[in-house]
Amino acid sequence: MCIVTGIYALIRRVPAASVAMLAMAIPVCMALSLGIVGATIAPTTANAATPQVTGVRVGVYPAKTRIVLDVDSSVTFKSFVLQQPYRVVLDMSEVTWSPKLRNPPKGGLVTGMRFGLFRPGSSRVVLDSTGPVRVAKAFIIPPSGKYRSYRLVVDIAKTSRQAFLMSYKRPDRKPEIKATSRPASVPVPFKRPPARPDEKKLIVIDPGHGGVDPGAMSRSGVWEKHIVLAFARELRQSLLATGKFRVRLTRDRDVFIRLRDRIAIARRAGADLFISVHADSIGNSRVRGTSVYTLSERASDKEAGALARKENKSDLIAGVDLDDQSNDVVNILIDLAQRETMNESAVFARKLVDELGKTRKLLRNTHRFAGFAVLKAPDIPSVLVELGYLSNRSDEKMLRNPRQRKRMAAAMSAAVKRYFERQQALNRP
Ligand SMILES: [Zn+2]
Repeated sequence: MCIVTGIYALIRRVPAASVAMLAMAIPVCMALSLGIVGATIAPTTANAATPQVTGVRVGVYPAKTRIVLDVDSSVTFKSFVLQQPYRVVLDMSEVTWSPKLRNPPKGGLVTGMRFGLFRPGSSRVVLDSTGPVRVAKAFIIPPSGKYRSYRLVVDIAKTSRQAFLMSYKRPDRKPEIKATSRPASVPVPFKRPPARPDEKKLIVIDPGHGGVDPGAMSRSGVWEKHIVLAFARELRQSLLATGKFRVRLTRDRDVFIRLRDRIAIARRAGADLFISVHADSIGNSRVRGTSVYTLSERASDKEAGALARKENKSDLIAGVDLDDQSNDVVNILIDLAQRETMNESAVFARKLVDELGKTRKLLRNTHRFAGFAVLKAPDIPSVLVELGYLSNRSDEKMLRNPRQRKRMAAAMSAAVKRYFERQQALNRP
């Protein structure tokens, strides 16, 4: 008997035989697991006291789809729904995810699933749904009988769009920010700290994705979020070794960060340069090479535009309600103050292309432009580097190899050095 059916019998206290019939009628019961990482790229190790999710299943029934999480100790949780696209979000106290979990399950009303840390102290599951749904029931069952784990059970059922809209409450709704005639680049109340001439330049490295937003998956099942964090740490090491820079990472663990918060972290810290690192995956497994992107309202080519749209979906993938941030994330509008920064970004991008070209294969037209939300800091030169394609065997191998990552980080570090040397030369009286 499908284990979900077993739970169903337990909960409903109905005869197991009738439940078994139900199970025969809908024989869908899927075990799952989640991205595991290669030997060289380990996820942040768990604190022993943090509850661990050891299993996730989806059970399909005539009137509902049931999602069950096995957790080794109790958690608190809440659920809510989102639209555009329709999703169900389950937030719970911080948990870790068993390394056994791979390829999250789907079925019934659930067309996709992601899970991970949403913010320190809070983990999240995001379920993509076939259409408007409601959370019919959500509860925890303590261990009993053969079940040694706590089971967090969520039943979702179809609903009409009208009923969905009636019940739809926006979560974490902040007070409305009045629209101004000028679109805000980033709604940042933080003032950039004044630069001290004697201070080392601050480089902020932004490893893409994280937590509930895993990014792309490599051919062998490694998530982009782990690969780019490993690379960011390597780059930090390389920059610090020059003795010329201070370095900060937007995230140094497997946690989700909103796109606008990545910019805010850099601005608040007074960054002099912002480098976002990613590693995309595409349908054509033959395409390989590094590419460098800077901000532009109009994309330099079709691929760059598509890539920006994909990377800009990060918040949506993590179950963030985008209704409040249509100005700064969905639409990329560039204001005048940003032009100078964009020129500087392009100068740095060219230095990167030069240096990276000495060590590895580059994508043709290596420096490209598109509307990347994460590059929108109005006063910090910003670039996004797609280190390579996780869909390509050689690129994946390269990115999972610490020695090769080190070489690439050294090349990027050399570009950073050259960029600031040029700036210094220009500023000399
Ligand atoms: Zn990415």
